[in-house]
Amino acid sequence: MRKRILMALLCGALVCLPLAGCNTGNNSNTSDSAQSEASASTETKTTNNKNSNQEYTDEVFAMDTYMTLTAYGENAQEAVEAGIAEIQRLDDLLSTGKETSEVAQINQNGGGVLSEDTEYLVKRALDIYQSTNGAFDISIYPVMQLWGFTTGNFAVPGESDLAAKLALVDAGKITLSEENGQTSINLPEGMEIDLGGIAKGYTSGRVMEVMKSYGIESAVINLGGNAHVLGNKTDGSQWKVGIQDPNDTDGYLGGVNVTDKAIITSGGYERYFIDKDTGVKYHHIIDPKTGYSANNGLISVTIVSADSTLADGLSTSLFVLGTKDAISYCKEHCAADGFDAIMEDEDGKLYITDGVYDDFINMNNTKNIEKIVTK
Ligand code: AMP
Ligand code: MG
Repeated sequence: MRKRILMALLCGALVCLPLAGCNTGNNSNTSDSAQSEASASTETKTTNNKNSNQEYTDEVFAMDTYMTLTAYGENAQEAVEAGIAEIQRLDDLLSTGKETSEVAQINQNGGGVLSEDTEYLVKRALDIYQSTNGAFDISIYPVMQLWGFTTGNFAVPGESDLAAKLALVDAGKITLSEENGQTSINLPEGMEIDLGGIAKGYTSGRVMEVMKSYGIESAVINLGGNAHVLGNKTDGSQWKVGIQDPNDTDGYLGGVNVTDKAIITSGGYERYFIDKDTGVKYHHIIDPKTGYSANNGLISVTIVSADSTLADGLSTSLFVLGTKDAISYCKEHCAADGFDAIMEDEDGKLYITDGVYDDFINMNNTKNIEKIVTK
């Protein structure tokens, strides 16, 4: 991580976001480095008062990952501090692993009254569940627990244990009810929810709203692999955001020129373990149809959208859907729903939707690129 932060500072051409930071210490060999990274965070707190474009950067560890916020403008420091407070507020509300969080309480009690943020996120998640035919399913949590992705005690489950947990997974059985202006959620017996596939996108969107309320017009945030840019750079040019190479997490598969967009990537390299007996790699994005790590042809999915909640939900979803179904989904939904996709398959071929095709920065001179026509 220290190395990735350094890259972010040195790399002039791209906003080389430290995407490897999504590898957050859940792999058995990374917890020590997590400790040293935490202490590194104060070293990267910087203020730059040159011209009227004051720049302020700070980091925070939340939602199980490292997040870096940079804002430009008169109130840059206040905006970043308020952004961090917003991240911490949402972390306390949404993190399944925090016993006191609203989501953990819902899981413990089989339901409950939803706060405004959680209601919004649950409704968006259920919409994506519907539109992806269940590829995105927030009731995947019992399966995540069984594999040890929630604790780091990784284990390949037995078939019958997996079948028993998988029987609890079906977000279509979640019910919402309204009373006295409040919305309640009700989960069937044994079901537990996890907003980990969508919460960081929502959070980056909320942080941008907070920054804007401080008058900020130029900012960039990296929430552990999820990037979000506000406006353009202070020189008026577009942000250039690097997309991590899933095969070499120190490199980039390419980059993208963006203004006012979230750029959110899902990949099997972010959190995984390797079974000692078989050498098989298991990662944290689960196919609800099988209960196993999704393995449907895609190794990286980046969604570019002004709607960061959608971008996060869909990066996970299209990764689960796999090459063929993800391309069909893009053709049907990209233009109508307002997003674009940059996807890499296991043969190294890139699929880039037309809305972002001309914005793609082909750093590696990749030849095998298919333009997906969606309009
Ligand atoms: P992301 O990094 O955004 O792709 O999200 C991965 C996280 O989403 C995992 O750590 C789980 O918390 C959650 N998750 C895993 N599989 C699914 C799925 N099929 N549907 C919804 N959430 C999932
Ligand atoms: Mg996601």
